[in-house]
Formats: sequence, C-alpha cells, structure tokens
Amino acid sequence: MAKTFRGAWRDAAKLALDIALPTLCVACREPVDGEGVCSDCWAKLSFIAPPFCPRLGIPFVYDPGPDMLSMEAISNPPAYARARAAVRYDDVARTLVHALKYQDRTDLAPTMGRWMARAGRDLLDGADMLIPVPLHWRRAWHRRYNQSGALARVIERQSGVSVASEALRRTRFTEQQIGLSRPQRASNVQGAFKVAPDRQALIAGRRVVLIDDVLTSGATVDACARALLRAKAASVDVLVFARVVDSHKTPI
Ligand SMILES: [Zn+2]
Repeated sequence: MAKTFRGAWRDAAKLALDIALPTLCVACREPVDGEGVCSDCWAKLSFIAPPFCPRLGIPFVYDPGPDMLSMEAISNPPAYARARAAVRYDDVARTLVHALKYQDRTDLAPTMGRWMARAGRDLLDGADMLIPVPLHWRRAWHRRYNQSGALARVIERQSGVSVASEALRRTRFTEQQIGLSRPQRASNVQGAFKVAPDRQALIAGRRVVLIDDVLTSGATVDACARALLRAKAASVDVLVFARVVDSHKTPI
C-alpha cells in the first residue's frame, strides 16, 4: 500500500517535471518538441543508405554494381553473414549512444530502435529471433539495464521478431574496448560469450539477428556470432544503431 502510494507520488512528481521543463535536444540541449533530437541535429546525422557493401553494410562512395563486396569484407570476412547500421558513428550519433548507455536516457531507445528496424528490414524479414549483445553481470549491475536489450525490445515491437535475451551469456568480464587496437579488441573478447547449455535447442537451426548499439572493429559481434554458430545457429546477422565507417578519423 505504502509502496503503491510512493510510486504514484513519484509518477506525479515526474509528470510535473515533464510539464515544467521543456524537452531538450539530447545532442545540443536546445528545446525541442517530441523526439529527442532537434531538426539541426537530425540534419547532421548521417543515415546509411545504399549503395553499401551487402556483407558489412559499409557505405560505398559510388555504386560498384550489384553484389560487389567491400575490400574489408573480402580481406577480413567476419563470422556473421551481414551487418547493417542506421547511422554513421559521428558526433551526434556518439552523443545519442552515450546518453542511452551512460545517462539512463531510455527515452531515446524508441527513436533509435525505429531507425534500426528500418535499416535492418532485409535482415529482420527472414529472422527467427533477436539477441542483444549481453553485458557481464558486473557491468549490468552498475548500469541497471542493457542498452542493447532496450534497443532490441523496440525492434521486436517494430518487426514482430521476438527477443531471446537470456540465450547468449558473457561468461568472462572483459575490459572496455575503448582505446584498444583492432587486434587487442579481438583478443579481449575472444571466447567471452557462450550459449547456455539449456538454451542450445533454442538457437539450433535458427536465423539470429544480433543487436548492439555501436559497431567499431566488429570484434564483439564477431565473438558473439562465433558462439551462436557453435550452438548451430543457421545464420547470424548484425544490426547496430551506429557503425564506425572510417576508424582512423572517428576515434571513440
Ligand atoms: Zn540538437
């Protein structure tokens, strides 16, 4: 009873705050109505559109013709089949990702998730399940929620493909990938993910779409894809909010 009352009071207080304070654009802090990002920042977001590499989703400067792969896809093919991203990881995208991840701005997830569902339409069409990249329980404890899980829930509502959030586990605590080189990133996450033995039947023969917020070197989703393929997933695709397109010019 007391608990319910406190909850109701908190909701009322929050509502009063929402009315009193204008919503600010998450990227530039200017007042904005509705969706989190003002029109100036919206214009600065680089949505990824064709032509792009059918394998990695990296945008091409010019259209090389159907089914042409990027050099990266040929020289260093990933374990996953295809990757798609809604936007390039640049200033505004970085602000959104950090706000969702570190500042509890869960209100951004619906917008970001909708953009992802649109960018990943091809992958979602034939998919059996969505699996968010898991946090280690130690990190989940500090963060209170998993940003990839929050995005996956929105994509589930948009696409009708259900989320299997407990299927993949992070079995080893890993250092954050920030500041690590490409080979260091790969060895940092190698073998860090596992499909729980009681979930293998759920994965076997299924087409999985992994969900994450950012794709940088691809080491994390690659390690996840390997774990899912070991559990006999039929295929693994990757859908992220933002991807680094030129890692030399876009440090995290
Ligand atoms: Zn703005």
